[in-house]
Amino acid sequence: AKETGSEWVQFFNENLNKRSVRRFEMRNKLATALENEEFYLEYQPLVDMHTNQWVGLEALVRWKSDVGKTPPDVFIPLAEETEIILPLGEWILKKACEFSNVLRQKQLPITISVNLSALQFSYPYLIQMIDTALEESEVSMSGIELEITESLLMNNEQEGVKLLDELRSKGIKVSIDDFGTGYSSLSYLKKFKVDKIKIDRSFVKDIPDGDDGTIAKIIIELAESLQMEVVAEGVETKAQEAFLTQEGCRIAQGYYYSKPLSEKEVLQTLETG
Ligand code: C2E
Ligand code: CA
Ligand code: CA
Ligand code: CA
Repeated sequence: AKETGSEWVQFFNENLNKRSVRRFEMRNKLATALENEEFYLEYQPLVDMHTNQWVGLEALVRWKSDVGKTPPDVFIPLAEETEIILPLGEWILKKACEFSNVLRQKQLPITISVNLSALQFSYPYLIQMIDTALEESEVSMSGIELEITESLLMNNEQEGVKLLDELRSKGIKVSIDDFGTGYSSLSYLKKFKVDKIKIDRSFVKDIPDGDDGTIAKIIIELAESLQMEVVAEGVETKAQEAFLTQEGCRIAQGYYYSKPLSEKEVLQTLETG
């Protein structure tokens, strides 16, 4: 049949409808996912490229329901929109604290980084949540670090400074995640005292070709001059590792070393050395 304009409009509307129905369904499923115990955490190691030792783990949330696995890039934004991220984020922090406790009891003192969503980053909500998680899991917060994004800081400048000070006074380290992808300004890095910068995967991807090497290099230098640690994300090849270590970056995360692992896999690897 000849495609007329109105057929296209109809096609478009139907498609839009299907999409919004799917989103609506997903929202509903998300609302009950926590009580149905459909979430779990995986942990991806942060590796010292000089020694190949694991120096940390990043907690990454997973959602498995009766329709299968939904990736966090899809459900986290939805969880933010619906504010389900608040109880979910609390659950994630608690789980990470519990696992940190397990590691400590086994004399495997490895820090766990937990991702924070913008919605969680408000005062006094965050501090209360952390205090509760600590009390319940009887863990010291020194085993936990937090990852936040640049835009989150820019949105709440004054609260941001206050919160970071308070976290720091509790001995909690904070990293800036996906560095370079937000609307970052260098002066912010001075204002907000963070401990670590994570170079976004998009700047590691094409190393050693293209311009990515240049940006990664600049971020490494920046971190060095501000006395911050620097972590490269998404390292997948030996050539990327070679470039990054030569430029002075020592810690990396990526499929070249390990994909995100279950608690069991983490323990197996750590216990067999
Ligand atoms: P992110 O915080 O930047 O996490 C790193 C993502 O890169 C993870 O995807 C990880 O599996 C993936 N990755 C690691 N190494 C490689 C690599 O070598 N190559 C490639 N292509 N990818 C790699 P994941 O687990 O799908 O998470 C996606 C995003 O969802 C995270 O990005 C984070 O923004 C969000 N997210 C995940 N877990 C949580 C959570 O517990 N809380 C919050 N608020 N957000 C989370
Ligand atoms: Ca992260
Ligand atoms: Ca990241
Ligand atoms: Ca990312």
